[in-house]
Amino acid sequence: MSKTAIITGGSRGIGEAMVLKLGEMGYDVVVNYRSDSSKELSENLVAKLKSEYGRDGLAVQADVSKYGDCKKLVEAAVAKFGDRIDVLVNNAGITNNCNFIDITEEQYTRVINTNLMSFLHMCHLTLPYMVKNGGAIINTSSIGGLMGVANQADYCAAKSGVIGLTRALAVEFARQNIRVNAIAPGMIWTDMLRGVNQDEVQALKLSIPMGEIGDVHDISECMEYLINAKYVTGQVISPNGGIVMP
Ligand code: NAP
Repeated sequence: MSKTAIITGGSRGIGEAMVLKLGEMGYDVVVNYRSDSSKELSENLVAKLKSEYGRDGLAVQADVSKYGDCKKLVEAAVAKFGDRIDVLVNNAGITNNCNFIDITEEQYTRVINTNLMSFLHMCHLTLPYMVKNGGAIINTSSIGGLMGVANQADYCAAKSGVIGLTRALAVEFARQNIRVNAIAPGMIWTDMLRGVNQDEVQALKLSIPMGEIGDVHDISECMEYLINAKYVTGQVISPNGGIVMP
């Protein structure tokens, strides 16, 4: 029987590596993206799922900060692959990197809606399908959810919230054979990291015990472990080079 996974923010960076890992693991994958500029990237990923792993895929544009868009995303998944959803990966995220005096209400609301509310929306819409057969939910948090980071108050608040959501759902759905875990990446080379102040990035890099910024595969391999780890739920795993030891 084929297995289905939905991933939000699957077009680029960590999400792209996760999509390909899910294909390698034998999942048909619904690849969500938001920007018009990521349509081609996402469709290319769907083509790669077929050519490299013989899996089917579906690229769906949706702004997951909005409940209505999340609903359309889940409906598109069910229309294409049926009402069995085995894995949900909540990965979409943005950052403002702005001090908490100059930041606007619109800016921090967008971060909370994208990085936290979308996770609630997607869990709320997907769990009714998952309870039938069990499944796994992987939520991408951040070391920002485990420690304070200057100019990231909105981001840290959202990523801490993701950990609370993960633990609560893990308890609530454990008896339905649904495991819910979080990954809290350290600094990983993607567009997100390239988009923030590079002096701050270099300064933070010096504080990483392993001395290196991580790679997207460090995170997709962690996702693979958590999907397969049958006795692990409600946990936060943080591939971060030793910068935080929770
Ligand atoms: P990225 O390269 O900037 O990619 C972000 C992804 O999120 C893209 O696929 C983007 O879609 C999608 N996205 C953003 N807003 C969305 C929305 N409203 N609706 C749907 N999709 C949306 O970032 P990344 O570094 O891979 O980050 C992935 C996750 O890891 C995020 O949750 C981030 O917070 C977390 N993380 C990253 C790092 C790091 O150092 N990179 C560290 C810790 C945690 P489009 O392509 O359409 O824009």
